[in-house]
Amino acid sequence: MLNIIICGAPGSGKGTQSDLIVEKYTLKHLSTGDLLRKEIAEKSELGKTAESYISQGNLVPDAMIIDILSKHVENQAEDSNGIILDGFPRTVAQAEALEVMMKKLDKEISVLIDLKVDENELIDRLVARGQTSGRTDDNLETIKKRLDVYHCQTEPVNEFYKNLNRYNAINGMGTIDEIFERISTVIDSKR
Ligand code: AMP
Repeated sequence: MLNIIICGAPGSGKGTQSDLIVEKYTLKHLSTGDLLRKEIAEKSELGKTAESYISQGNLVPDAMIIDILSKHVENQAEDSNGIILDGFPRTVAQAEALEVMMKKLDKEISVLIDLKVDENELIDRLVARGQTSGRTDDNLETIKKRLDVYHCQTEPVNEFYKNLNRYNAINGMGTIDEIFERISTVIDSKR
């Protein structure tokens, strides 16, 4: 079983690298951002609530996202070798809830990959993505807010996994292939 967390600031390439990891290692991809955007597209009650947080660059409340994620973690397909969590946990409370969830299922997080990208590069990437993504949160004002939220609320999660000896920082600058190569080396060393 290979259960991976991929994290990093908004624009660090989590989604792009997750797609490559999923294909190479046959994992189930769980992106909390994608799950929320699906709810928004379906105009569900949950989606409406989530949108009010997302469009402001804020995190949705812990209880809401933990509830959504736990259902998907429990329903993991039999034919995958594990899961990759992309965009979760984003707070220490979520990390603690994830530990409880995994213990209940008699599983554990194998490794956390933290993609490190310079702040100016992050902003450039997100502004460029905003021109085609149609995402309400890919505009300069909201991008800056998301980066602040990342530093205040999400970065402390790294300490949590450092204490569990699962933390691996990866240089997230360079080509997609170069970064994937670095990630694969770390994953292969944990198998
Ligand atoms: P992402 O696609 O991962 O950049 O997520 C887009 C937005 O969805 C974030 O800026 C948050 O508002 C919300 N979101 C995604 N994952 C989480 C999470 N684990 N906890 C709280 N909010 C989240």
